[in-house]
Formats: sequence, C-alpha cells, structure tokens
Amino acid sequence: MAHVLVQGSLNVDYVAQIPHLPIPGETVLGEAFHIFAGGKGLNQAIAARRLGADVRLIGCIGQDQLGDLLNAALLANGVETALVARQAQFETGVCCVLVGIADGQNMIGSIRQANMALDAVMVDAAFDKVAAESAEAHPTVFLAQCETEVGGVVRGLLRARDLRMTTILNLAPVPQGALDDHLFQLSDILIVNEIEAGLLTGVTVDGFAPAAIAAQALLKRGPRQVAITLGALGATHSARDDSTADPATGITHREWPAYAVRAVDATAAGDAFCGAFASKVAEGLAIDEAMVFALAAGALTATRPGAAPSLPTSLEVEAMLKDQPR
Ligand code: ADP
Repeated sequence: MAHVLVQGSLNVDYVAQIPHLPIPGETVLGEAFHIFAGGKGLNQAIAARRLGADVRLIGCIGQDQLGDLLNAALLANGVETALVARQAQFETGVCCVLVGIADGQNMIGSIRQANMALDAVMVDAAFDKVAAESAEAHPTVFLAQCETEVGGVVRGLLRARDLRMTTILNLAPVPQGALDDHLFQLSDILIVNEIEAGLLTGVTVDGFAPAAIAAQALLKRGPRQVAITLGALGATHSARDDSTADPATGITHREWPAYAVRAVDATAAGDAFCGAFASKVAEGLAIDEAMVFALAAGALTATRPGAAPSLPTSLEVEAMLKDQPR
C-alpha cells in the first residue's frame, strides 16, 4: 500500500464570486458565497488520498470552530489527522478569496495564523511519533510545501530523510527574502509552477524551452529531479545522474503536453498534481507513469470550481487516461 506523509497548511477558504474584481474602495454586489476546506497541505493530502494512498498530515489548526470544520473535512476524505496539532493559543488559518466571474481572475488575502506555529519544535514532535512506530509502518514519501513556517519545512525534510523517505518539496509559495539552501539540498524531487520557477531562477518561464533552462539551474542547487508545471501547456520533468542522461548536460529532460479539457477554474490544479505525483511515487510507479497521473489529476481539477471539492478520484483519472492514452 502506498503511504504518503504530507506536511503543510490548513485553511478555511471564504470564496465570494462577484461579477468583477473591485478597485480599492469599491463595493461589488455578488451572488455566490462558499466556505471550503483548503490550504496547500490539506489539498495535497486529499489529492494523494483520492488517488489511492494512505495519507497522514502534519499541520496545525486552532481549537476553534474552523479547526473543527477542517478536521471533519480530513476525516470525511480518509486522511489521518493524529499528527494535526490543535493549539488553543492560535486561530485556524483563513483565506478570503474574491473571484471575478467575468474573467475568472481572483484576489486572495491569506491569514496564516496557526499555520505559522508549525515550527521545527512542532514538526519534531510529530516525527517523533512516526519514528516510534515500526519501520514497516513508515510512509515512503514525504511531501511538503512552503505555506507554513520555513524552519519547520526544513526540519520536516531532514527528519523524513532520516527515516529514508523520498522527499518531495512543492516550493510554493516562494518564501520572501534569502532562501535556505536546505530546502533544495534536502529535497529529492522539487515541484514548482512557472511563476515559482521564474522567481527562483530569473528565467521567464513561459513555455517548454525556458522551463528546460530553469530546471537545469534548479537541479544544480541540490534536488535530483525537478518538475515544472506550466498550467494549460502541461509540465516538464528533469532528472540528473540517471542512466538515460544526455552526456552533454548529464540531464534527462522530458516535456509533457497537458490533457485537453474544458477548464473552468484552475484553483488547486497544482495541488492535485503534487498529491497525485506523490501518491504514485509512493506506489512504486516509474516517474513517467507518475507524471501521467499527475497531469491528468491537474487537468481534471481545472474542470471544476473550488479547491478540495474539485480534486479527482482514481476512477476519474483512470477514465481520462483511457480516453486520451499517452
Ligand atoms: P499551479 O496551480 O501551481 O499554478 P498549474 O496551473 O501549472 O499549477 O497546474 C498544474 C498542472 O495541472 C499542469 O501542469 C497541468 O498538467 C494541469 N493543468 C492546469 N491547468 C490546466 C488546463 N487548463 N488544462 C489542462 N491541464 C491543466
């Protein structure tokens, strides 16, 4: 059984759909309002679970009603919550999202609250519990992002390496200021979208060719593999030091066009991609197969509104792979 340990943020998303995004000071009357469970950690945990893995989540929420809502969402989706700390002194993280119906653009205010309490000490406490279990019960893949305190992310990667897990870092969002090199050095596989790849390398990543250049620069910083997602274009995967590497660069680089879908809202497409990829790596699939699942999961997520509710199941992904074989 594939077993993934996800570490990351949990938020309650308040989403208002309004005809167009307001200018400062303007009030725009809208019709639809939804409250969703969200946050990259929660979304990626649910994505990996829906694709068939056993999933545990390390995170931090408050002892408030919003924390109850997130806990219930995780349990309803079969994600194990024993490592989600509930802290009375912090409030659960929230995001206020405005979506302009005319062009699908959004504006987001993210108030991280309890997510910022997930520091190295709290991460250590969670990993101590995992380490105390028998080795057979250990997850094989660790997946983290950067919406929580960065020191805690570095600590998670280090502890996961100690337990011989494959470490996957979705370096999103890119933390402000000087970046801790450990984020790269402790990650076996790095996943970023085109914007993050651009911020990290200075390359304008607006297609497959610049993505190859950016990936090469990112591989030099430590990870063995780099996946760059390019929205409706698809994604790339680059690896160094494997048997099929180009002798000139030492890198194996593959480009993957996206699955053709009618997209309505790409929110959480990246989370679906990361969760699906981690789930399939944990299952022991070859990287090419894991990429195909991840691309299909991302594409399906873009066909539905919202974050966690739009994440696809195994059956849906398999139907798409049959429909559009690679
Ligand atoms: P993020 O949400 O991090 O910006 P992307 O938008 O790059 O991530 O989406 C992740 C993956 O989801 C893409 O690599 C692609 O495979 C898939 N995807 C996203 N948007 C679409 C789309 N409009 N059509 C098809 N696939 C998509």
